[in-house]
Amino acid sequence: MGEVVRLGYAPSGCSGVLTIDLGALQRNYRALADRLRPAATAAVVKADAYGLGVDQVGPALQTAGCRDFFVAQLSEAVSLRRLLTHEVRIYVLNGLQPGEEAAAADLAVVPVLNSLEQLSLWSALAKQRDARLPALLQVDTGMSRLGLSRQEVDALAADRSLGEGVDLRFLMSHLACGDEQAHGQNAEQLAVLHQVAALFPDLPLCFANSGGIFLGHGFHGSLARPGIALYGGTPSDAPDAGMQPVVRLDVRVVQTRSVPAGTRVGYGATYVASAEMRLATLAAGYADGLLRSLSNAGAAYYEGVRLPIVGRVSMDSLTIDISALPASTLRLGSMVEIIGPHQSLEMIAADAGTISYEILTSLGRRFHRHYVV
Ligand SMILES: *Cc1c(COP(=O)(O)O)cnc(C)c1O
Repeated sequence: MGEVVRLGYAPSGCSGVLTIDLGALQRNYRALADRLRPAATAAVVKADAYGLGVDQVGPALQTAGCRDFFVAQLSEAVSLRRLLTHEVRIYVLNGLQPGEEAAAADLAVVPVLNSLEQLSLWSALAKQRDARLPALLQVDTGMSRLGLSRQEVDALAADRSLGEGVDLRFLMSHLACGDEQAHGQNAEQLAVLHQVAALFPDLPLCFANSGGIFLGHGFHGSLARPGIALYGGTPSDAPDAGMQPVVRLDVRVVQTRSVPAGTRVGYGATYVASAEMRLATLAAGYADGLLRSLSNAGAAYYEGVRLPIVGRVSMDSLTIDISALPASTLRLGSMVEIIGPHQSLEMIAADAGTISYEILTSLGRRFHRHYVV
């Protein structure tokens, strides 16, 4: 990793290089799978594998041993089906919109049923086809986002014929605070899940996201669903939650200049040089996922030297203070690090006032994407 960058090479026409380490991705998968055994480890590859490219990430995870993949919507399942062999199971977290059932069944996609309404539509298709159609049943245990309410759960437990023809594979729920070890809601949600599970004793559990994996065995169920941990984000405040970085981003310098004290920088003139300084303008901006909230907040790095962003981030460029480097270190075409050994995904997310998930899923399509193993 980083070969391209050391050579100072980026394919012509590209403002930067996004290096995606599929070997690190596979090592992260295997590390989680080892930790979770005997539970199985799925992979969440929604939103184009968190922006990293499901075309490359999906097959790499299958090679690493993954056989269960979660996406958010049916269109993602359709793409994934073409990429992976038929032995893998593909689950749709949001379930199906009315009318999508036949297409989903034709592709052998497994919907997550989040309401009695979704259950009855899936059941109707099963009866119509005289087939048993697989599904996961999600219950809301305290996040109030997706899943059957307690009343719906009780109605189904009292009348299992509501799910006639549906082959329920797992009882599923989702943690709201799984990344915070000490948050009291984790144990509360687990307790609610166990109450519901007592009504469906034949169903194995699918509960933990990345953070939940680090809450201990009690949270693992039979199938865990990590996303961010695979992609090198820090999944939890647990001390042993370090994952291998998967992403590196290096961006080109498009111009440098020296300016006297009092010089204003960028849109809105929000930065004023307090002394003579040297500046470099980088060839990427908020349209590339370097969020505008990094204005006067974040930094780039060059050989470990922090180079603060000054002024507002523009659509296609941003400006950094390079006074800390010897003159003419950087020039037109030089590359600086945005995400890499000196600045983690979590650091830039913190500077942007957001989370690693949003940084990854925002990374632009204009960077050259370099996949390494
Ligand atoms: C996105 C998502 C996940 C993966 O979460 P991470 O925190 O990235 O591990 C798991 N389960 C559900 C229901 C999700 O929406």
